[in-house]
Amino acid sequence: MVKVVDGARGEGGGQILRYAVSTCALLGEELRVFNIRAKRSPPGLRPQHITAIKSVAEVCGGTVEGLKIGSSSIIFRPTRPRGGKYFFDTGTAGSAPLVLQSLLPVICFADGPCEVEIRGGTNNPMAPPVDYIQEVLAPALRMMGVEVRLELVRRGFYPRGQGVVRVETRPVKRLKPIEALDAKVEAIEVYAYSCNLPDHIVRRMAAAAESHLGRAGYRDITVRTEPLDREDPRNSLDPGTGILILARLSSGLSMGFDSLGERGVPAEEVARRAAEEALSQLSTGAPIDKHLADQLIIWMALADGESRIRTSAITSHTATGVDVVGSLTGAEFGVKEEGPKGALISCRGIGLRPS
Ligand code: ATP
Repeated sequence: MVKVVDGARGEGGGQILRYAVSTCALLGEELRVFNIRAKRSPPGLRPQHITAIKSVAEVCGGTVEGLKIGSSSIIFRPTRPRGGKYFFDTGTAGSAPLVLQSLLPVICFADGPCEVEIRGGTNNPMAPPVDYIQEVLAPALRMMGVEVRLELVRRGFYPRGQGVVRVETRPVKRLKPIEALDAKVEAIEVYAYSCNLPDHIVRRMAAAAESHLGRAGYRDITVRTEPLDREDPRNSLDPGTGILILARLSSGLSMGFDSLGERGVPAEEVARRAAEEALSQLSTGAPIDKHLADQLIIWMALADGESRIRTSAITSHTATGVDVVGSLTGAEFGVKEEGPKGALISCRGIGLRPS
């Protein structure tokens, strides 16, 4: 059956496309998407989306029509995902974690283990930093039965990117549903990283985050700073910095709140943005941060059974993910706003099996 998706739905950005392509690759169904990124300027495909679609198409031996910069529609015909070794390059500082976001479900349901190397930006604005994928998304997926190993080989910042992320997966046997309704915070960690910048930047950033969180009553915060320079093989080509605040929960899940350094923005301000986000989301008592919620939608739809998660907020990415993935897979989603306690998302997954 041919699936048709209007890319202007809801959020109207790249996420709809990524979700639709991964879902149809897994279902083995032809996909037509039109109005791609209609609500973005400029609309249409950007290099990062092209790499994401190409990578999925390569793993599942599919063909794609319309794959060029600015294109507003594609036709994707997948076959089935195959295990093996793969290499993908965004060719720019395009986000490697966003390429991985489309690819990960597909390689996890391949007919054998996969080893994938993705070259691109590892820490980009408006995208999950690689550190978030390692510390927040991956543990949640492992809880669902996903076997994934991630290695940051080299950081990549704008403009030249060329960071490297290595990913290894084994075929999922059974994707278990996830239940995460309450947050019991066991520890708070602050991780500040930089490349090609003076060491005082990460120290100031971490100290500012610690004192911001401390004023709100969080004590015994573990602080880690990692300023890389050209002695370290993981050092990026361009300068860059950022911070990730982690709330480790008793369930084994983690919540992540991150912020990326910008030229002209003091380290203290970068820290404040992440800390405020942490405090505001933690105050809801929900165990799933707002970014993880949208990143789990496809996994909940594929899982074998009913998932229930409480998230600090429903973003338009999450609402769009529920809409698009729900209608493509037939998984039944329910979303219930609970005011200051965030929102409950339930999903009866379709129980996809590896090909
Ligand atoms: P595009 O702008 O390319 O059209 P989009 O708007 O659909 O794409 P983005 O806004 O780039 O998508 O975000 C896509 C993904 O990045 C979402 O899954 C979102 O949760 C995640 N994301 C964005 N910012 C962060 C962050 N700071 N931390 C973690 N995840 C993030």
